[in-house]
Amino acid sequence: MEFSAENVRRAIAQEELQAYYQPQFDAITGKVKSAEALVRWIQSDGTVVPPFAFIPQAEESDLIMEIDWYMAKKVCETLIRQNGRKQHPIAVNFSRRHIGEAHFTEKLTALVDSYHLPHHLIEVEITESAMVNESEKILDWVISVRSAGFTIAIDDFGSGLSSLQFVKDMPADVLKIDKSLLSHNCENEKERIVLESIFYFAHRLHMTTIAEGVETKEQLAFLRTCDCGKIQGFLFAKPMPEADYLTLCDEHVEDESVDILEIQTPASAADLLRRVIFQKYPLVIYSNLTRNSFYMMAYEDFSSTGCPSTGVFDELIQHGASSMYPDDQQVFAQTFSREHLLAEYHAGKTEVKLITRQLGNDGCYRRVETTDYFVKSPSSEDVLVITLCENLPDEE
Ligand code: C2E
Ligand code: MG
Ligand code: MG
Repeated sequence: MEFSAENVRRAIAQEELQAYYQPQFDAITGKVKSAEALVRWIQSDGTVVPPFAFIPQAEESDLIMEIDWYMAKKVCETLIRQNGRKQHPIAVNFSRRHIGEAHFTEKLTALVDSYHLPHHLIEVEITESAMVNESEKILDWVISVRSAGFTIAIDDFGSGLSSLQFVKDMPADVLKIDKSLLSHNCENEKERIVLESIFYFAHRLHMTTIAEGVETKEQLAFLRTCDCGKIQGFLFAKPMPEADYLTLCDEHVEDESVDILEIQTPASAADLLRRVIFQKYPLVIYSNLTRNSFYMMAYEDFSSTGCPSTGVFDELIQHGASSMYPDDQQVFAQTFSREHLLAEYHAGKTEVKLITRQLGNDGCYRRVETTDYFVKSPSSEDVLVITLCENLPDEE
């Protein structure tokens, strides 16, 4: 059928446009966690018209907004059909045109409230390129949508004009990594490094991750080692009609007895270990002495100085010294200077330890034992240090 706005509007009126659902699976357990709604035009003779046959033209005018709102309504109706059963969040694709739409958040709130659905069940998906092109208005738009309790996903990340700066500034919840970044087996070394880095920065920015277009077991195996959160792709499921999706959700009830230790990937197991260490030690620092850099995890009240969580190692030691009891400041700065640490490392030492009195945020001094463990970088000549700080009992 020829594309025309009139034809699409007629299709909407006659409910020929339908929401298909592509489930998104937990990368480790393989259980359904959420879904994305994708429009299909089912014509009267049964022909299924895919989105690329009419979405690009519809995007040239406000017609796309009518389609998106229609889809949002269909998604609410689907969620309502799951009332009393497990409801998974569903993502709706919103074209960039909505960024300029008056009262978008109020409209979405009114729609979802009219079905008495919790807002966290609706994820607003917007493409990365839309975000780049509309960068002035988008930040306010995203903040407004999120503050109403909806989640925001950046779609197709890595497909076009990727702007890391943009992702950095955007308070989005989910990063969807585009299928164009995945080759058949993910066997290319450079490709692996790029993907690992993308997942790393997404996790550091506290975003959850979805890999799109996963088709092979090899891709899945690699994505698991990157700690990818969810998988959306033909390997698990194609987009399907609502009835099939509802059946799948009912069959996929989460098995609560799953053994967490058996489903760890190397990356997530290392993360668990880090968290356990952080329970015992209120300050954990990873430093690269060669490159004068560090990254740390610290309890909020540990120190009286507002030290950034990542930055220049020499400045970290200055910050540390300034929060010590005055008599301890010099010995601390000397012991943990880079020059001294590197000399100790080259002399064959495996660790450097010092007890000082540290001023906490509560205004009290505590005895703290700081231990620097030297580690050789597995991938370069750099000298690394892991610092563990432990609170000691007060002296009698
Ligand atoms: P998208 O939002 O990035 O959706 C993912 C697309 O990837 C879907 O194509 C899906 O079928 C496809 N896909 C998923 N897994 C695989 C896989 O393993 N291999 C391959 N080759 N493809 C996979 P679809 O349904 O044809 O949609 C295409 C695009 O049309 C969507 O890309 C989205 O940008 C747009 N679109 C679809 N529905 C809507 C809508 O309701 N509103 C708006 N504004 N855009 C929509
Ligand atoms: Mg999408
Ligand atoms: Mg996409």
